[in-house]
Amino acid sequence: EKVDSQLIVIFGASGDLTGRKLIPSLYELHKRDLLPEKLCVMGAARTEYTDEEFRNIQRENLEHSQKGKELKPGDIDAFLEHICYVSFDSGKSSDYYKLKDRITEKQTALNLPDKVMYYLATPPQMYDLIPQYLQENGMNVAATPEGWRRVIIEKPFGTSLETARALNKKLMSIFDEKEIYRIDHYLGKETVQNILVLRFSNGIFEPLWNRNYVDSVEIKVSETLGVENRGKYYEGSGAMRDMIQNHLMQLMGFIAMESPAVFEAEPLRDEIVKVFRSLRPYKSAEIDLNVVRGQYEGYRQEPQVSPTSTTETYVAMKFFIDNWRWGGVPFYLSTGKKLDEKKSEIVINFKSTPNQLFSGQCSGTSCNKLTIAIQPNEGISLQFGLKMPGAGFEVKQVSMDFKYESLSKVYLPDAYERLLLDAMLGDSTLYARSDALEASWKFIDPILAHWKESGDQNLYPYTPGTKGPKERKPLKVLPRPCICYSKQQIE
Ligand code: NAP
Repeated sequence: EKVDSQLIVIFGASGDLTGRKLIPSLYELHKRDLLPEKLCVMGAARTEYTDEEFRNIQRENLEHSQKGKELKPGDIDAFLEHICYVSFDSGKSSDYYKLKDRITEKQTALNLPDKVMYYLATPPQMYDLIPQYLQENGMNVAATPEGWRRVIIEKPFGTSLETARALNKKLMSIFDEKEIYRIDHYLGKETVQNILVLRFSNGIFEPLWNRNYVDSVEIKVSETLGVENRGKYYEGSGAMRDMIQNHLMQLMGFIAMESPAVFEAEPLRDEIVKVFRSLRPYKSAEIDLNVVRGQYEGYRQEPQVSPTSTTETYVAMKFFIDNWRWGGVPFYLSTGKKLDEKKSEIVINFKSTPNQLFSGQCSGTSCNKLTIAIQPNEGISLQFGLKMPGAGFEVKQVSMDFKYESLSKVYLPDAYERLLLDAMLGDSTLYARSDALEASWKFIDPILAHWKESGDQNLYPYTPGTKGPKERKPLKVLPRPCICYSKQQIE
């Protein structure tokens, strides 16, 4: 598909995300010849740089990100010709004329169509102000009918249902929903997109993908690092807001959704919203039984972290999706920092056979599970029981494995490459829609409110390098009664 010639403004271009992800991803697209015929990438931030200084910084970033990769001589410089910089204060409406003038200057010099994408890579408190100031300066609409404006919003998208709603309302009063791209970089990962292909292009999994055959679903994202130098950001966020509300919920949406009628943005996102709306809300008395929060020992001594912080660095939770496909199947989500391994994976545990003829050992509820490794060792493995060679009929659990690395010549793009390209093409399939975001916040909000009330009660410490607080275990072991409340009873 052809990408429109366009101009991309990156707000917050002097920051970490731009240098580490956005510019390197655009460069990879350049290497693969996927950029439009004419492109201008305009960095924008308060720090004073000339075009040349900004290009030099990005040259260093690119040399670093390309270390060990094949490079054509002079190719980085050829790419850097697309880049320029404008210094202005995006927090002052009266300063936007500088950006407007620079955009006009570049559009005229390069004979660009009036197609402009704004990427907000600033601190989140600017996510509603920048669109407002763009509107005040007449920069939120294109001057020609063929032109367009698009805006990409980074995470976090709100910190509660109320703030997410307010941000949606503001954005949608300035741009059309189809012009707003709310990024969740997990959806840019090949292994995550492959969930859809695995499920909807293979006839053998889907008949089993329901309450009749699935015992439980686990989605885990564990990290070995702590908060590093992002203590200030993390204090205002915590694992629930930073990981569960967005990334893990989106993964769960892909696993639990029905097949859309066609593979297009709206039908696909309609199906995800239906899943989020079917989540069984917790009654407040159930929260501590079903959601475990932890904090690694030493977190309170991290830079810019309060010595009495109650911010969670670990969450494990169990919930149900009250619909015909998933009724009664527990979903377990867990994520944490400073754990024993760096791993993101999804495990579908299948039910056991009704009658056990053979003795032997299989881990989990049955011999059968399907594991989708998001990272590292990207791949899929299906586990099943096999007869141990020799006398008798002893069962051993073995696995059939697919590893992405076996597609040796295939390039696995970074999530940002895919998502940037999609936004440049105008395809929002892999971006979160306003109603989905609000539905996931609606589910999460009561948990956060309950924790706020409880202070440090039921906040469990855990030793760095372990699997998390020991209190996570009863979530899975104790059979929890299926307490059925209608949604109306709860609301
Ligand atoms: P950062 O390093 O702090 O950079 C943000 C830039 O925004 C700063 O360099 C600053 O440049 C500019 N800025 C504009 N208005 C500002 C204001 N009022 N106060 C402070 N800075 C202001 O942040 P980042 O790590 O690049 O992240 C950008 C956004 O992406 C954040 O919202 C973050 O949550 C999100 N994000 C980042 C990552 C990541 O890996 N870094 C991953 C996912 C999401 P000037 O001072 O020059 O104006």
